[in-house]
Amino acid sequence: MRASRGVVLNGTGGVWTVRTPDGEQHDASIRGRLKQDGVGLKLAVGDDVTVERAGNAGAWAITTIHPRRGVLARRAPGRAPGERIVAANVDQVLVVFSLANPEPHVRMLDRFLVIAEGNDIPARIVLNKIDLPGGVARAREFSSVYEEAGYHVHGTSVKAGVGLDELRALLAGRTTALTGPSGVGKSSLVNALFPGLELRTAEISPSVNKGRHTTVGAMLVPIPDARGGFVVDTPGLREVGMWGLPPRNLDVCFPEFREFIGSCRFDDCSHEHEPKCAVRAAVETGKISQARYDSYVKLHAELVEAEETW
Ligand code: GDP
Ligand code: ZN
Repeated sequence: MRASRGVVLNGTGGVWTVRTPDGEQHDASIRGRLKQDGVGLKLAVGDDVTVERAGNAGAWAITTIHPRRGVLARRAPGRAPGERIVAANVDQVLVVFSLANPEPHVRMLDRFLVIAEGNDIPARIVLNKIDLPGGVARAREFSSVYEEAGYHVHGTSVKAGVGLDELRALLAGRTTALTGPSGVGKSSLVNALFPGLELRTAEISPSVNKGRHTTVGAMLVPIPDARGGFVVDTPGLREVGMWGLPPRNLDVCFPEFREFIGSCRFDDCSHEHEPKCAVRAAVETGKISQARYDSYVKLHAELVEAEETW
């Protein structure tokens, strides 16, 4: 019996591709008496598993799922049981936007950040195309809002070769979900950093996706670097959505709100219309950015509406 630890890269129809530390990939199926951490734990892309093979020519079987560091999941709304795990063991979410062509869409950025926060996964922002005219000043303006909110903003230019070494170091050895609208330069970045790494990074457009429960077919792509690591190639974080996030939990998904939340007069303050709201007071004194607060209000309304239809 040959056994090895490995990472699940992808899976379809009961056959999972497991990559072992030697770089080999094996098609494996789940052994009937799979050792699970908890009842009903389902195997997911990104899982750390043990695979075993009977003899030298036998089929590979996944025998153990090792404890997860966390998951990127689409939680079932309301009281419906279960969640759909998009990927397990994701270390960070990297949200890529560009300074121009296309302009940063802050509402979409805030939504991605909330999805990461809601999943307890650290998020970082990459601002690409800083070579474009007026880049430095505009990048500084954009960055200050997000840095004050507690996010790390990383400026890059594929064209001018700026910020690429730092970004490579950020990705190597970790499992990263890369997201962002199309056209911002995700493929260009990945190719510049790790030649040969191919992604299907296109976000699914919201109109195509509306109201449909499409399958989230994420896969892990090994990073061709001695330090290892993976890029989670998802059809789009937008597809992961904010499903299952109760509206009253949205405020803590805005890190810069956290220090004020406890000082609101009402414990269940929605920070919209209640008197003596510390969050709104912080917006008025400029401690919280108006644009971020506006995103909060918009996403809150969306979650309230979604909750009513659940
Ligand atoms: P994706 O849809 O996010 O994967 O974006 P692509 O990688 O396909 O890039 C979209 C366009 O932006 C292409 O025409 C790239 O050549 C261009 N692009 C990518 N990175 C940069 C950059 O740093 N600066 C400039 N000026 N253009 C870039
Ligand atoms: Zn409040």
